[in-house]
Amino acid sequence: MDLYEYQARELFKDHGIAVPDAAVVDHPREARHAAELLGGRVVVKAQVKTGGRGKAGGVKLAADPAAAEITARQILGMDIKGHTVRRVMLAQPVDIQDEFYVSYVLDREAGTFLAIASAEGGVEIEEVAANRPEAVTRIPVDPAEGVTEAKAAEIAAAAGLPPEAAAVLHRLWRVLVREDALLVEVNPLVRTADGVILALDGKVTVDDNARFRQARWGSDAAQPADDPGADPLEAAARAKGLNYVKLDGEVGIIGNGAGLVMSTLDVVAGRGARPADFLDIGGGASARTMADGLDVILSDPDVRAVLVNVFGGITACDAVAEGIVRALESVRLTKPLVVRLDGNNAARGRAILDARAHPLVEQATTMDGAAARAAELATT
Ligand code: GDP
Ligand code: MN
Repeated sequence: MDLYEYQARELFKDHGIAVPDAAVVDHPREARHAAELLGGRVVVKAQVKTGGRGKAGGVKLAADPAAAEITARQILGMDIKGHTVRRVMLAQPVDIQDEFYVSYVLDREAGTFLAIASAEGGVEIEEVAANRPEAVTRIPVDPAEGVTEAKAAEIAAAAGLPPEAAAVLHRLWRVLVREDALLVEVNPLVRTADGVILALDGKVTVDDNARFRQARWGSDAAQPADDPGADPLEAAARAKGLNYVKLDGEVGIIGNGAGLVMSTLDVVAGRGARPADFLDIGGGASARTMADGLDVILSDPDVRAVLVNVFGGITACDAVAEGIVRALESVRLTKPLVVRLDGNNAARGRAILDARAHPLVEQATTMDGAAARAAELATT
């Protein structure tokens, strides 16, 4: 789960990283009051879980409390890349001399963390990374060793950051570890005209799997959502209690058990098609769940064929086949459905589907054969 900037800066503060004084409000009149307390002149910043707020007009300087109210009124309710601004943060403006970029990210491919740092931080960091990759330093961080003071100094020096930035890099690693974050990013980390180092903007992604010991931010659902309609199919699936993830391909996939579904995605990809989703209907695989799952997948306009891959265990294949047959009564099948049933009571399950003889339903006896057929149907 991504945190809002105002939440990220709380974490920074807790771990000794300096941030400008600030307040969060959700009403223009409160903005005036908060600006008064902050000394009059403030930066008004949209709080949305997306970057590029500055370029979108979501970060503006206000000269006095009256201007802060007007600016807050402009920014509140603004749409930034599909995110509605429901809160603004007012921060004491900083006289920026240099803008740096620092972050730690999980590098899944390398099985390690990566420190990324650049002396050319700020709103153009994507362009810098794309056009002059040598201006962005990447240094692997062994998760067991972490970022010691020496390592922090090494990263700062390699990226051409001032030596004082090393303390921030050291503390930022503690944020990552102590808060169970998968990403911590400061852009820009600034040096002010007085030589003070401050985190001016922050992004933190916390690991949802650590929620049991990180109760602080609650769940996504407990947070004020700024993009209620992120993906309509995922929202519809969530409402039905389905374990569904939308993907970019054309083969809709339903399976029982996360491991089986993941390998089904791989086998479909191996057959030259792309999975349109991940949907694990779990061990129960009731007719209701099957119908709900088919409903969501068939309403995805990108789907051209659906693959149901079930290995019967505690839930036998005949029960799954009954589920499919009953699902076909409530869902109008508009795209070909390839079913592979194996395991407990497979023969009985196949017989039930054969007896139903739906023109758009075909069966395959192996996972690979089913994937090949679904891929063929979806790509020709
Ligand atoms: P982002 O566009 O979503 O990354 O939002 P940021 O918080 O990073 O703000 C965008 C840019 O606004 C920063 O890179 C700074 O250049 C500028 N900015 C933000 N706060 C201040 C400030 O207090 N003083 C000055 N001079 N510029 C600021
Ligand atoms: Mn930024």
